[in-house]
Amino acid sequence: MKKVIIVEDYCIACYNCEVACVASHSRSEDPIKAYKREGLRGRTNAVVEVASPLAFSSMCRHCKHPWCMDACISGAIQRLDNGIVYLDEERCVGCWGCVVGCPYGAAHPNLDGERKHAFKCDLCIKRLDAGLNPACVEACPNKALLYDETIEVREEVRT
Ligand code: SF4
Ligand code: SF4
Repeated sequence: MKKVIIVEDYCIACYNCEVACVASHSRSEDPIKAYKREGLRGRTNAVVEVASPLAFSSMCRHCKHPWCMDACISGAIQRLDNGIVYLDEERCVGCWGCVVGCPYGAAHPNLDGERKHAFKCDLCIKRLDAGLNPACVEACPNKALLYDETIEVREEVRT
């Protein structure tokens, strides 16, 4: 399965990936409207962590054994045929089991709005269906995020 691979050596903490993630999951798919009108500033699945000089964009690994799915009490998290660990926000009851269960901090609580629910990376499933890469990968100016099958790509990039 292809996943987003993080190459922390190349991350410059520009936060482009966070913005691209928010925009691609917004109604307008426009970053300004998403942040200022749709109130989605905190709704990114690609969270940039910085401990200078180290920086990296952290997101869901779509694990072989998804702890989030085990912890989900409503069946909102399922593995799709293409391998994506998908969280159906409509089925989420806001128990935060996935938020606590994910060892990578990749499932987040959405506390805004009337209905509380969790959210996580869906690998930009709509973009994949259209033959595009995940938005964070496309937005990264420095190839710190790659969409590929194997972890060995990291070593190829470094050399
Ligand atoms: S949310 Fe966490 S536990 Fe679930 S698939 Fe992603 S990285 Fe794995
Ligand atoms: S877009 Fe790339 S370089 Fe910028 S913060 Fe994200 S991972 Fe780092």
